Amino acid sequence: MTFRDDVKLNSNRARRSSGGGGRVAVGGGIGTLLMVGLFLLLGGNPGDLGGLLGEDQQQLPAGQGQSQSQSLEHCQTGKDANEHVDCRLSATAESIDAVWSKVLPQQAGIKYTEPGLVIFSSATQTACGAASSQTGPFYCPMDQTAYFDTSFFDMLNSLGAKNAPFAQEYVVAHEFGHHIQQLEGTLGMSNYNEPGQDSNAVRIELQADCYAGVWAHYASEGKFLEPLTDAQVRDAVQAARAVGDDNIQSRQGGRVRPDMFTHGSSEQRQKAFLAGYSSGQMSACDTLERGVYR
Ligand SMILES: [Zn+2]
Repeated sequence: MTFRDDVKLNSNRARRSSGGGGRVAVGGGIGTLLMVGLFLLLGGNPGDLGGLLGEDQQQLPAGQGQSQSQSLEHCQTGKDANEHVDCRLSATAESIDAVWSKVLPQQAGIKYTEPGLVIFSSATQTACGAASSQTGPFYCPMDQTAYFDTSFFDMLNSLGAKNAPFAQEYVVAHEFGHHIQQLEGTLGMSNYNEPGQDSNAVRIELQADCYAGVWAHYASEGKFLEPLTDAQVRDAVQAARAVGDDNIQSRQGGRVRPDMFTHGSSEQRQKAFLAGYSSGQMSACDTLERGVYR
């Protein structure tokens, strides 16, 4: 999706965080929800993540010190968003804020509040613990903030998708989807330690994909974005497929284990995004079968 070149951006919407030592939190905690991400690497038991990163938590290299954050002064207009990844993430957040401020009260009777947005390199501190690039994009409910390491987007290529602008925007909208769930009071139902194709973890993730689609449905109605092209929709669908559990499991050399799914299959994720995109209705995203949407 392309930003209108002359649209004015809020260069304070996102913060750039540099460094941040401490212990790294991964996918889920034992029995507690630490954070929810775009995908979970390693097709095996989410508990095994600790093995890779070191006992569930990992000490970051010394010398990274306290996190410092700064605004994105170079992100002034839509043209900047079309040229720089960090400006694009920030501008996407503004577009998502505008859509959900209308849709969430209308369709769910809930007031929208903006989540934080932090862009970091290598590592950062969060209320959910420290995070590293390996964590991938995620949302921390404790500080209601979405975190992105822009180097992650290169990984889309290795998962078989294109690192295209609208693929990146879908990822932001997915994480903001978790913020919507936080406002709905349902996000805590997710638990990566209890995986499986019918698990709450998968339902919550597919709903976040669908909410990303709801945003895409309305996105070009606001002042930020030009109308979506078919090619751009394909980029998002391809990204949604790329982070499907079956794709990740088989690319990591394992066999496909639906009982270990935390985010849903490629097929399910594609369908979820398109359900939200084609309808613009939260009711089309009701994977938790709550029946509360207008
Ligand atoms: Zn997610």
